[in-house]
Amino acid sequence: MIMTTPVPEHAQHVIIGGGIIGCSVAYHLAKEGAKDVLLLERGQLTCGSTFHAAGLVGQLRSSANTTRLLKHSVDLYRTIESETGQATGWKMNGGLRLACTKERWIELKRQATTAHSFGLEMELLTPDDAQKLWPLMTTDDLVGAAFLPTDGQANPSDITQALAKGARMRGVRIIEETPVTGIRVENGRVAAVQTRNGEIRCEVIINCGGQWAKQIGRMADVTVPLQSVQHQYLITEPIEGVTPDLPTLRDPDRLTYWKEDVGGLCMGGYEPNPVPWALDGIPEDFTFQLLPENWEHFEQFMQPAAQRVPIFEQAGIRKFINGPESFTPDGNFMLGEAPELQNFFVGAGFNAFGIASAGGAGKSLAEWVLAGEPPMDLWVVDLRRFSTVHQDEAWVRNRTLELYGKHYTLSWPHEEHASGRPNLTSTLYETLKSQGACFGSKLGWERPNWFALSGVPPQDVYSYGRQNWFPHVGEEHRAIRERIGVIDQSSFAKFRVVGTAAKSALSRICANNVAKPLGSVTYTQLLNSRGGIECDLTVAHFAENEFYLVTGTGFRTHDSAWIRSQFRPGEQVELQDITEAGAIMSVMGPASREVLSQLADTPLDNASFPFGTCQQISIAGHSVWALRITYVGELGWELHLPREAAKPIYDALFDAGAAHGIANVGYRAIESLRLEKGYRAWGADITPDSTPLEAGLGWAVKLKSGVEFSGREALLTQQQAPLTKRLVGFTVADPEVVLLGRESIFRNGELVGWLTSGGWGYTVGQNIGYGYVRNPMGVDTEFLKSGNYELEVACDRIPCTLHLKPLYDPGMQRIRS
Ligand SMILES: Cc1cc2nc3c(=O)[nH]c(=O)nc-3n(C[C@H](O)[C@H](O)[C@H](O)COP(=O)(O)OP(=O)(O)OC[C@H]3O[C@@H](n4cnc5c(N)ncnc54)[C@H](O)[C@@H]3O)c2cc1C
Repeated sequence: MIMTTPVPEHAQHVIIGGGIIGCSVAYHLAKEGAKDVLLLERGQLTCGSTFHAAGLVGQLRSSANTTRLLKHSVDLYRTIESETGQATGWKMNGGLRLACTKERWIELKRQATTAHSFGLEMELLTPDDAQKLWPLMTTDDLVGAAFLPTDGQANPSDITQALAKGARMRGVRIIEETPVTGIRVENGRVAAVQTRNGEIRCEVIINCGGQWAKQIGRMADVTVPLQSVQHQYLITEPIEGVTPDLPTLRDPDRLTYWKEDVGGLCMGGYEPNPVPWALDGIPEDFTFQLLPENWEHFEQFMQPAAQRVPIFEQAGIRKFINGPESFTPDGNFMLGEAPELQNFFVGAGFNAFGIASAGGAGKSLAEWVLAGEPPMDLWVVDLRRFSTVHQDEAWVRNRTLELYGKHYTLSWPHEEHASGRPNLTSTLYETLKSQGACFGSKLGWERPNWFALSGVPPQDVYSYGRQNWFPHVGEEHRAIRERIGVIDQSSFAKFRVVGTAAKSALSRICANNVAKPLGSVTYTQLLNSRGGIECDLTVAHFAENEFYLVTGTGFRTHDSAWIRSQFRPGEQVELQDITEAGAIMSVMGPASREVLSQLADTPLDNASFPFGTCQQISIAGHSVWALRITYVGELGWELHLPREAAKPIYDALFDAGAAHGIANVGYRAIESLRLEKGYRAWGADITPDSTPLEAGLGWAVKLKSGVEFSGREALLTQQQAPLTKRLVGFTVADPEVVLLGRESIFRNGELVGWLTSGGWGYTVGQNIGYGYVRNPMGVDTEFLKSGNYELEVACDRIPCTLHLKPLYDPGMQRIRS
């Protein structure tokens, strides 16, 4: 029988989905003061993935803000029962993680350092100490363990009901048994949701549809890249010795996790060969349902589990759960406004940690909805991190399954994934492959990471020490510093911004002055209302009403969506994404002028072609845009050209450059070169949480010009008081130390921040790290210089040297030579 629950004609905010995420968004929207919030659930609250979750609540993530977000979940789960009167089953019994190999132990120590950086307690334990916390387990194979005292567990359905109750108490309407069947869009914005009981006009839609979020997205032509995967665990009958205060346990080398459950044990795991579900769509009646038990598949965990907890073998099984859950191609969930459609937000794809995330994710998404911009840097979970490749369902499925299978494998530094490759390639792909390129992939693009010469296999061999590519990258680095190198950077995102208002719009959106004469090239940041750096890119002024913007490969969707969102209604300006249309070859190094001059129809001397300018010239008979800029700190030009011109120009460059020792160079060398020069990387050193003043980029902001631009007010306000954090550099001479980023920074023995980037500088012969030094009382040069600094690397304190200037060519003589 079809129920007909009446629906209102209008609601300001409509949340689709009454799982833990939808209820948390509803709760937080109401708490933030939103008045007219409606939640629609096709079945009953929790009937999707939420009701069958195991309920482990771990907090450690590899980004500071997602860790902060998970910490918020814990704070909320501690208190929501007293606020609403609804029990939640929350227990802060701590979380234990085991290490059975030397490499896992290093990983655990590095994770502990990351936790310390982000203010999360995580202690290292000996196997004996670990056993005291978990007496039923064997420890003979353990190298060590770590304990997070504030982790815990909860009852997923009860927490969801508590959030729903808290939302209702603040006026949210929740209507069950009401599936959303369509979405009406008007003028590029959401206008209404359609249900079988009628249409509801609305201003904002928030898609919290769990594994259904993909099909809900499709109703509005929004891509939500996720894949349902079967996930299984079992619960035993009560076992003697299993106490309610038993910590949750993760045993990644045996691919399993454990928790106490009504006196018994709950054990689940992540198979290396996961089983996708609902390839032809989710059945209509799938509410409060589980999938058939797949013992054959689960069996792989039984022996390793019994080795860890011998008594488990004798325990009776009370319950076996096979539930589907949505997973994503990079293992992180999705938050934010859809780049395709204004006022359509998504909070979905929780990769089996939705219970742990819901409190913080719901809060952040609610704040994002209300403010129209993320409340903090949420790049790792931002929906705009995806691109065209994620519209391909088969690609998404394969990559998602690969990542699921790697859930508990070691996450190696510089690790690349194998599925769905190659996807997008430059016209030089085969040529570079034949030259020994070892490729990495970024947003579907194949990019040369490094070149294996003289019979070396072009393959990464991962470790926590120096990896096999280290000497080869050193050779490439030196080619650029001493001679000439060519880098295929065709995957860079490329936009044309055109229209009679292009100049005025970009002047308003960019913090630097981009309204310079034709032929200028400007490095600029784009700021949010807090003065935080939303984008970091290059703007070339090609023609009267035409600008050419170049940004990092991974930021294509994010940056184009940000820029479009800043255009005003009716403004005569348009952004065109032309990423796939062109190729880019960077020709860098002291010999670049001499080599390019042999092929160019134009003089390339300083007077004719100064730094920071661009010209349309002919190279080897092909018309190219040459931009004189650099991200590696040497004399050089970026050549922007039609795809078909890439191979003939590449060949001509290598012919002309042979006498100068011209070399192929990859992305790992770029990283080392830019670290020496102190160039910032967006998403790491600069983010929406840092302003140009804090990042040492004040020189690239037109504050003195009096021209209005986004973020200006915030910077002017910030100038009135001492900065409370500043990005600085550190070096560590010991080559045995490996810096990767997230290492903690100590000043005079006190934690003051963490590294945002780390790597090796081959010219300076040292480890280089960048990070913000924080002090609520102010961070001036005197404060910085008067400190003694150490870095915590894998729980060891290492002395380091502070640097306030670039380590290489601080006077920019080489770039301007
Ligand atoms: C076996 C298993 C164990 C797990 N263990 C843990 C754990 O220990 N810790 C942890 O943190 N996480 C765990 N998870 C993950 C957790 O269950 C999920 O991440 C979380 O429940 C996701 O919540 P959600 O609100 O996004 O999705 P859901 O709970 O699926 O909610 C989505 C809701 O949207 C509704 N909906 C769909 N389409 C429509 C429509 N058209 N109109 C209206 N409503 C619609 C659905 O009915 C559903 O109720 C586990 C998952 C599984 C499968």
